[in-house]
Amino acid sequence: MNIDTLLPQRPLPNDQDATGRNFGEREIAYLSEALKSGTLTSTKGRFVHALERTFAEMLGVKYAYACSSGSAAVHCAIAALDLEPGDEIVTSPITDMGAIAPILYQGAIPVFADVDPKTLNVTAETIEAALSERTRAIIVTHLFGVPCEMHAIEHLAKEKNLPIIEDCAQAFLATHRDRYVGTIGSIGAFSLQQGKHITTGEGGIVVTNDEALARRIFLFINKAWGYGDAQPDHYFLAPNYRMSELQGAVGLAQLEKLERAVERRVLLASILTKWLEGVPGIAVPPQPLDSRPVYWRYAIRLDPSLIPDGPHGFAAKLKDRSILTAPRYIQKPAFECEVIREQRTFGKSRWPFTLARPEALRYDRERYRGVYLGLDGVLVIPWNDRLSIGDVEYIARSIIATARDLRRIA
Ligand SMILES: *Cc1c(COP(=O)(O)O)cnc(C)c1O
Repeated sequence: MNIDTLLPQRPLPNDQDATGRNFGEREIAYLSEALKSGTLTSTKGRFVHALERTFAEMLGVKYAYACSSGSAAVHCAIAALDLEPGDEIVTSPITDMGAIAPILYQGAIPVFADVDPKTLNVTAETIEAALSERTRAIIVTHLFGVPCEMHAIEHLAKEKNLPIIEDCAQAFLATHRDRYVGTIGSIGAFSLQQGKHITTGEGGIVVTNDEALARRIFLFINKAWGYGDAQPDHYFLAPNYRMSELQGAVGLAQLEKLERAVERRVLLASILTKWLEGVPGIAVPPQPLDSRPVYWRYAIRLDPSLIPDGPHGFAAKLKDRSILTAPRYIQKPAFECEVIREQRTFGKSRWPFTLARPEALRYDRERYRGVYLGLDGVLVIPWNDRLSIGDVEYIARSIIATARDLRRIA
C-alpha cells in the first residue's frame, strides 16, 4: 500500500455542515415543540431556561445564562464587572476578536500578555508582566481546549485581588485539577457558534457562582430591565443579548450529547497522539498531567530547524491529501488587526484608546516572543467527534509522510 497516493475513503467530517455535526431527532422534536407552543422568546418559553439549568448542573455552578453569541457572553462577563472607562483588562492576543471587542465597547483597554509558545496560552508569568496599577481584570483563553495553568493564574489573581474571566469558547468540559474550566475564575464564557464543540448556529452561555455578578449578567442580557422586581426599570446601559427559544431548543438537545462528544474527541486525539509521538520535527499537543484538554482543534508544532517550510508549506501538502488545516491558526496577533492598530472604534474619536497609558499600547515584537514563535510554528488540524478511527489513521499517516517529505536532511 502506498500511502503517498492514498486519499481518504470519504471526505473528512466538516463542522460547517451535516458531515461534522450531530443534529438528530432530539433537536427536531424540541424545535417542533417550541414552534407549536407559539412562544419563541426566552422570557416566556421553557427551552432557554432548561438549557441554562442543565448546563449549570453539568458544571456544578450556581448560575448559567444563555445569550446570543460567545462574543456576547464575554461582553456580559466584562459588563458584570462594572469597570470605569480606561480601566485595563489583561488578555491574550491569540484569540477570537469577539473576545476583545467587548473590552473596547465597555470603554476598557485590552492589554495583551505574551503567551507560552508551546500552548499559545497566557501564563501567570506573562500576565504578571502585563499588569499595571490600572489593571482591573484578567481574561484567560483556554485555546484549542487546552486549559491554562489556572492554579498559578488563580494564585496571582488572588494576590492582586483581580477577577478572572475564563473564555471557554473552545473548552467545553475541559478540567484543570479536577475543576471544570469556566468555574475556576469569577465568570466563564462559552460559545455555541457553528464551529464549536456543540452548536446552536450562534449562541453563548455565561456561568458564575457569584450572586451579584449573576444579577448583572442577567440584566445585561435583558436591556438591564428588572424582570420580576416590584418596580422594574432599565437600571443601566445594556443591549438585548437574549437567545431565542429556537436556539434554546437546539441547544438543550446538543447539551445532552456534549459529554459523549467530548469523550470521543479526547479518545480520537489520544490515538493521533500515539501515531505522532516521536516523529522528528513534530511536537504533539501538550499533555498536562493535571488537566483534561478537550481538543476543539488538534494543534501540532513544527520544529523550524527540521521543517523549514513551516506550517504553510506543511498545510499545502496536506491539502493535496484533502486535509484542510489552518497554518498559524490566526494569521496575526490581535494587536496587528486594524481595529486595534488603527484604533478604529467610535467615529474618529479613537475612544477608549485615548484614555490609555501609552505603555499599554506598545506592541513591540520583543514583548511578544512567545506569540510570534508560537504562531510561526503552529499547524491546526480540524478536529471532530465524528471522525472515524480510519479517518484518524489517514490523518496520522498523511502527517508522517508529509513530515518525511519536508524534513531537512541533516
Ligand atoms: C468562537 C470564539 C469566541 C466568539 O464566539 P462567537 O460565538 O463566535 O461570538 C470568543 N473566544 C474564543 C476563544 C472563540 O473561539
